Amino acid sequence: MSATGLTRGPLPRSLPLPLSIGIDIGGTKVAAGVVDENGAIVERLVEPTPSRSPKAVEDAIVDLVDRLRGSHRVDSVGIGAAGWVDNAQAVVAFSPHLAWRSEPLKARLSERIDIPLIVDNDANAAAWAEYRFGAGRGSSVMVCITLGTGIGGGLVINGQLFRGTYGMAGEWGHMISVPGGQRCECGNRGCWEQYASGNALVREARELARSNSPVAYRLLEMVGGDPDKITGPLVTEAALQGEPNAVELLGDVGSWLGQGIANLAAALDPDLVVIGGGVSAAGNLLLQPAQAAFDRTLTGRGYRPQAQLVLARFRNDAGLIGAADLARHAMVEPPESGRFGFWPRRRQGRRAARLRREGLLAVRSSAPRRIRS
Ligand SMILES: [Zn+2]
Repeated sequence: MSATGLTRGPLPRSLPLPLSIGIDIGGTKVAAGVVDENGAIVERLVEPTPSRSPKAVEDAIVDLVDRLRGSHRVDSVGIGAAGWVDNAQAVVAFSPHLAWRSEPLKARLSERIDIPLIVDNDANAAAWAEYRFGAGRGSSVMVCITLGTGIGGGLVINGQLFRGTYGMAGEWGHMISVPGGQRCECGNRGCWEQYASGNALVREARELARSNSPVAYRLLEMVGGDPDKITGPLVTEAALQGEPNAVELLGDVGSWLGQGIANLAAALDPDLVVIGGGVSAAGNLLLQPAQAAFDRTLTGRGYRPQAQLVLARFRNDAGLIGAADLARHAMVEPPESGRFGFWPRRRQGRRAARLRREGLLAVRSSAPRRIRS
């Protein structure tokens, strides 16, 4: 019986809703999947990221799409790329871990894939998946942190993915945590992701293994005495089995994580922080030290409601699920039709002229480098 009191007959058997392909391109692997409208993966393929050549990555994407379309009726493709993607969801401006520099990825792929296609940042896609179908459902301000090779970030405010003016919001992996610290692939030193990511975990574990310390014996034994064979999943696995040094290494990463989250809470005041990506497979071994550091460093602690820190539901699949759903969403509301486009830039030009006239613009010691777009 329906709410109106009318009895409904059996629903007509209609064709299944079209599916979407989501592709997640990371520093080490490309994951592709056919995803339905509820965020469920119907089929999944994973390949290693071919090389640092943009052409090889493009070929791999086309091949994966062709293979998946061979057995499914698909009407859109969403690509989550580890890079800074513009608001038109078309151009990868820069990728710290891949070779893209102002790469018109959407245009290149649209020449070879004949269904609608969008490109977004991989961590934006992951955040969207958690918000739509995972741990972030119902949140009003959700911060998502994806711990992989680096740190990806995504922000969903009142049901909208917040991309910033130029599509580059959420890159908090590159906030500087330690001035003059570890060199980052982005070119700066001391970025947060150099302390609280999979790369950081591996670097610290290898350093410990090379230290000739007797405490590193178990870790070294697991890789046949070769520190270079230590990987993030291996450390996580060792920690889950109770290996004390691996537990400690994850504890360090968790502490850096919690401290950074406290910074984000100071800036954004979220109600929920979702922690995902490969490193989150460590579960409580990561979450507990993160929570402790967060509780210790949150500004106004004790006098404010605190954001909840939770583990992501989808971990490694979040990027492809979110990319597929963003592509489905873009079919209804294409990014080029929206309120973003390029006009904010034009308006900024006018604003700059007015501010210059009024003497309110900062005087730079040298002109900023112009970035081609
Ligand atoms: Zn960086």
